[in-house]
Amino acid sequence: MFKQKILIILFFFFKGVLFSQDIGGIAGEEFEENKPKEINELAAEYTETIDSLSWIPYFNEYSLWETHKIHPYKNDFTKLTDTISLILKYSECDFIHPICGEINSDFGYRRKRFHYGIDIDLERGDPVLASFEGVVRIAKYESTYGRVVVIRHNNGLETLYGHLHKIEVKIGDKVEAGQIIGLGGSTGRSTGNHLHYEMRYLGEPINPNDLIDFENGILLSDTLQLNAEHFVYLKEVRARKYYRVRSGDSLSRISYRYGVSISKLCKLNGISRNSIIRIGQSIRYN
Ligand SMILES: [Zn+2]
Repeated sequence: MFKQKILIILFFFFKGVLFSQDIGGIAGEEFEENKPKEINELAAEYTETIDSLSWIPYFNEYSLWETHKIHPYKNDFTKLTDTISLILKYSECDFIHPICGEINSDFGYRRKRFHYGIDIDLERGDPVLASFEGVVRIAKYESTYGRVVVIRHNNGLETLYGHLHKIEVKIGDKVEAGQIIGLGGSTGRSTGNHLHYEMRYLGEPINPNDLIDFENGILLSDTLQLNAEHFVYLKEVRARKYYRVRSGDSLSRISYRYGVSISKLCKLNGISRNSIIRIGQSIRYN
């Protein structure tokens, strides 16, 4: 009886997942709502559901296969108490550097915005390679990333390749490490040809320098022991608060509204008391 209860709970959990998310080829699966079902029927459907999801890497941990939204996950790993061990490499071919080139811009703050990736210099049309084997989750044009590909890997990570000139894969494609997934370019919010390369675990960005020796294009270690230390930077990023200036605003008004002194506002924003603030400008107040 207990087992049956668990089975029913699991079945309805998965049913919810199937309907709430776009999961590519299996989203069209229908469930009959009205007719009560025998427990063995439910069990058979549950098993089918599990089988039909098995092609999605790491589905149990992600519980989501979203092919429109680039960043659909909501996690906070700054509070991670365990260490998650990810095996990145069993043999030499398991990691291939996406493209060799100079680092134009590193992971970290770029003025006010946090840069969650690494920008690698390239020439337009240079082939960009998948870092690990996996399945393509995103392959589309987006205003910021331009032509962008996201791959969910069998090791649990997701990698993102932005500003591509051309995409050479489609959603659901199984790719090998080193396979060409696109050609480099400067699409989206970009000022020159480069690859914007991100690495995330369950949506939480990881500094790619923690895994990769970018000078030599090799992994630092065959395994990644992920813990809260990797995400400690996010505490500061998430604590920062901004206000967008509206008509009639002044520093003293913003200071009053948020209970922050004018001198603190000036320090946070690198401005002076006499600086003119413009409508639409974002002012950091925390
Ligand atoms: Zn970038």
